[in-house]
Amino acid sequence: MDSEREKELYSKVCAASGIKFVAGEASDKTTRLTENDKFSCSLATLLARDDEVVVVMLKVSTNSCTVYIAKNDKWLEDDFTYIDRVKNYLKKISKIAPIPFEVVAAENDDALALLSEAIMYCTVKLKSRINKLKKDIKCQNKYVKSFIDYASIDTKNMDKIETYDLSITCFEYYNENRKQFKDLEKDSATPQFLKKFIGHIRKVGSYYGSWNRIISCACSAKFKILFSHFEVRLLEPKMTEQSIISWEDVIKEFITDHKKYEDFKSVCLNSDYKKDSLRFVYGDSIQLESADIKQTVKLHAEMNILTNKLINKEDKSRAFIGVSKKCCYLCGLYIRFAITKGYVINTSGIHRKLYHLWKFPDTDNAIFNDESLSYMIKNLNQIIRDETEHYTEEKVSPDNLGGSLGSSSHNANQKVRSRLRSLHKLIRK
Ligand SMILES: [Zn+2]
Repeated sequence: MDSEREKELYSKVCAASGIKFVAGEASDKTTRLTENDKFSCSLATLLARDDEVVVVMLKVSTNSCTVYIAKNDKWLEDDFTYIDRVKNYLKKISKIAPIPFEVVAAENDDALALLSEAIMYCTVKLKSRINKLKKDIKCQNKYVKSFIDYASIDTKNMDKIETYDLSITCFEYYNENRKQFKDLEKDSATPQFLKKFIGHIRKVGSYYGSWNRIISCACSAKFKILFSHFEVRLLEPKMTEQSIISWEDVIKEFITDHKKYEDFKSVCLNSDYKKDSLRFVYGDSIQLESADIKQTVKLHAEMNILTNKLINKEDKSRAFIGVSKKCCYLCGLYIRFAITKGYVINTSGIHRKLYHLWKFPDTDNAIFNDESLSYMIKNLNQIIRDETEHYTEEKVSPDNLGGSLGSSSHNANQKVRSRLRSLHKLIRK
């Protein structure tokens, strides 16, 4: 690998994310999701805690199923234990399959334990989402009011709301209003507040929804065969130290005149939003002229699975990468390149954010590396060229996160709610 060109890529990733936080176009699901795809998304949601991003890919053959899991960070002892427990719960439930979801929801202790442990594991992330929803609830709005009435929320005692309870309520509420909410989310005339509120309901509900989906799969005859030979493989995270050239040197490739460069720099530093981005990338003192900055770049989880399990194996069969958070702009770009080389890769969506600590995936194929590097640099050049030629202020658009939601009967959900209530009362005693 040409390390000078890699350095150019990393330097341009930094320069571009310093002046343009979001790029390209966001995209939602591109294909119809299969049951397996939805299972991958749901599992990814229940395996991601705190700020982690988790990615799940199923490889299914006639009698077996391998679940590949990657995350952006190091695996901890707790993760191994939790994932092992999830696997065992699913295996146990699939042994009694096929069985109606309603029966499992009402009676099965393994399913209930899985939900309880998943909510504990994801508690930080779930609570932060619930806090956002609680802030929304303080606003006067007909949509908020109708949700408060539906959920029978006592707005003066919101601290008493149980996380699992709210997740079940949000799941049901979102499902009941799915069509209307989807239309509102798509409509550009919908106020930003309302879009966020709907997004928060969806995200809080996605925890119960993901459990619901996974258990529904485990109950089905189709997944019984898969789960009986189901193996889990965790991928090692990859990170490396990387040096970059200065912001000045990158920008001067596009603005050769020193006076014009100084003008552009002051425009950037006078914009609060760009200044914040530059500070985020180049440190508190915004060292734009400093050469040889060192940083640790991390291989994003979806790139880890893509390179190790698809490209290095030259596996061009259909693959679906379920993500706990939509893929970032650079991962999206790399996936687009891989698709031009005949790989059939689907994901649950791409957002537009640029992350400056993104690690370029090194595959075993030198030509693929060389061409993908050129492709990435070409696209980054375009971003920087556009920004240096036409300066525009851009608002950061919120992420559209959240796993997919399953569906089940209201009765079954109520059963789970009351069983979980009793379980938690027992734990507290
Ligand atoms: Zn990414």
